[in-house]
Amino acid sequence: MSNSAEGGALKKIISHCKEYGFIYPSSEIYDGPGAVYDYGPNGVELKNNIKQYWWTAMVRMHENIVGIDAAIFMHPATWKASGHIDAFNDPLIDNKDSKKRYRADVLIEEYIAGVQGKIDKEVTKAAGRFGRSFDKEQFVSTNPRVVGYTKKMKEIEDRLGSALGSGDLPAVSALIEELAIADPVSGSKNWTDVRQFNLMFSTELGSLADGAEKIYLRPETAQGIFVNYLNVQKTSRMKPPFGIAQIGKAFRNEIVARQFIFRMREFEQMEMQFFVKPGSEMEWYERWKEKRIKWHKSLALGEENYQFHDHINPAHYANAACDIEFNFPMGFKELEGIHSRTDFDLKAHEEYSGKKLQFFDQTSGESYVPYVIETSIGLDRMFLAVMSAAYTEEKPDNGSERTVLKIPPALAPNKAAVLPLVNKDGLPEKAEDILNAIRFDFSFQYDAKDAIGRRYRRQDAIGTPYCITIDHQTLDDNTVTLRERDSMKQERVSVEQLVHTLHEKVDMKPLLKSL
Ligand code: ATP
Repeated sequence: MSNSAEGGALKKIISHCKEYGFIYPSSEIYDGPGAVYDYGPNGVELKNNIKQYWWTAMVRMHENIVGIDAAIFMHPATWKASGHIDAFNDPLIDNKDSKKRYRADVLIEEYIAGVQGKIDKEVTKAAGRFGRSFDKEQFVSTNPRVVGYTKKMKEIEDRLGSALGSGDLPAVSALIEELAIADPVSGSKNWTDVRQFNLMFSTELGSLADGAEKIYLRPETAQGIFVNYLNVQKTSRMKPPFGIAQIGKAFRNEIVARQFIFRMREFEQMEMQFFVKPGSEMEWYERWKEKRIKWHKSLALGEENYQFHDHINPAHYANAACDIEFNFPMGFKELEGIHSRTDFDLKAHEEYSGKKLQFFDQTSGESYVPYVIETSIGLDRMFLAVMSAAYTEEKPDNGSERTVLKIPPALAPNKAAVLPLVNKDGLPEKAEDILNAIRFDFSFQYDAKDAIGRRYRRQDAIGTPYCITIDHQTLDDNTVTLRERDSMKQERVSVEQLVHTLHEKVDMKPLLKSL
């Protein structure tokens, strides 16, 4: 896709989300603050379903994972211990001509992705030239141009890694200058120096007269889990390996907040911290990578839309880290992070709080601070992933056009729409009976207005997997038409069978069983 085509696809999703009650810009009547969004009636249903799928897969499907819901405000020492006050800064750079601000490491990583793109092009060209006899591995390791690109990539990665690792910002500036990286918007290379910027929002606890204390809105949910490690371990009688899961809001004063709900200042995370015996962390890291990619792929948003990206420069707390990237309209970008966080956080909290955060293993008689594997997924990014894969413009055979959201039925905001063919002749009353039969099991829409074709299109546009149409025949034989969203196929189903049939088609259970 060209850049404008990518931008076009995202723009379409943004306006569709607004028009059909999924997502609105925050406080829009006042022209709202940037990068903050509100979820509408369909959005909140989809979001809740994503949460439910994640929570059930994590907590209910694992006897050794339990959930918590920690407060957003935490003792300020938490963020000293976690490193957020001192080390959690983004290296930023401004373009003097366009006045736009960027993350310096992201600019360099995009440059590296460009070099990788050149390698991919060479490989595709050669594969076409050599046909069946093409040996990719051999080509990549011997073709002088590709070898040159690979070497260059590695050098840049190493230099970026060591500059960020040691906090050497002038070295990051030098790299941007040497690579002649230009502002992606204006093409200008007129940059400021790279500077650090803290992402945490602060506020005050207590009134000023009482001597208010500066506190922060949590920038990640993980710390709420770490400070509760001992409480949960003891009260749930858990022993490693065990996990604590949490879904909650996080806040980051992102400088380059854009790309809709991909990067927001207030967002939601679904995180799970898995506590293991030191030395076994790599085995669990690999296991969680496998489990999480399986969870994603079970939703059938397209196997080709996922890739792992290993971090060359894991954050200060990690000894291994990778992202699960999704093919958003803007290209492959981070959807979920999986990190081997060592004992960094628990040890730091021990030090700052003076409390022991250890596990006493009765069989071996030793105490240890557990190591942690973290899986952290942005709920809003998952929402955008679902929307990006689901949004489809089609021209069905009869020449008409439709926009349909092919959301996995288990996640769809409404499972069914109940549509009396005409708004008279006793059909609305029959429809009411049907509503009363399904309302306890499924979220639904009721629509008695306009021609049936238009009503089907409205349901397609919000991703409703099944439409139940009540017509005159329904009054005779107690059957309805069940229309399926993606195929548009219709079948007659008896009203007695309806709840059972819908359960079979839209439940989360088969997806959960496949995990
Ligand atoms: P990025 O590199 O894109 O800034 P990150 O590596 O800082 O992300 P983590 O700290 O690992 O992100 O957070 C875990 C997850 O939280 C991310 O994978 C992402 O899905 C989500 N997330 C992080 N920042 C934001 C944000 N500003 N808006 C929406 N989701 C976010």
